[in-house]
Amino acid sequence: MDMCRHLGWLGDPVSVASLILEPPSGLLVQSYSPRRQKHGLMNADGWGVGFFDGAVARRWRSAAPLWGDASFASVAPALRSGCVVAAVRSASVGMPIEASASAPFTDGTWLLSHNGLVDRAVLPSSPRAESTNDSALLAALIFDRGIDELGATIAGVAAEDPNARLNILAGNGTRLLATTWGDTLSVLRRDDGVVVASEPYDDDPAWQEVPDRHLVEVDGAHVHLRPLKGS
Ligand code: GLN
Repeated sequence: MDMCRHLGWLGDPVSVASLILEPPSGLLVQSYSPRRQKHGLMNADGWGVGFFDGAVARRWRSAAPLWGDASFASVAPALRSGCVVAAVRSASVGMPIEASASAPFTDGTWLLSHNGLVDRAVLPSSPRAESTNDSALLAALIFDRGIDELGATIAGVAAEDPNARLNILAGNGTRLLATTWGDTLSVLRRDDGVVVASEPYDDDPAWQEVPDRHLVEVDGAHVHLRPLKGS
């Protein structure tokens, strides 16, 4: 089991519950019954919700299954934000299961999630890493290189580990960035904003699949797609 599911929102302020808990196939349901996940059966090894409160990135992370958290379910309808990055985790073999290993990771400016698996031997150690799992090390590398180099960093890591799966999702309050490299990703343009998610949270025909090896940038209501170059 080694694949998580993530979701990002950029738009008008909406409740975290409306994005994660209420949709018929949202992250809550994906934590025990994902529809498009290619690796792993469930995402029970933790979860994290990050959101911008003005310019401040706030996080709530856990090492327990999302479906069991009645306190979060109670509070989530009252948490409203215009930029959200959330994830449910299926830990890879050998990785620690602790809240600090759950996405989103942060450098104080960006909230960042990784869906996938990468050989830790190809990732440099960084004092910025929040945990010792591959996703935390990869997040630290992306922050150290600079988020504007995201595409180049992903292509570089993939060159070092050809089996790596490197779907990234990051938000800073005014932008969302995402990569597809080995796993699914879909985009939904709504009247009030844009959702970027590992899989559609409902059966709305407006969901569009992002092809593999692409960089997605959401900037206001605009969604830009650019192919990533492998090496
Ligand atoms: N390799 C990841 C981990 O163990 C698996 C979860 C994910 O897809 N981010 O942290």
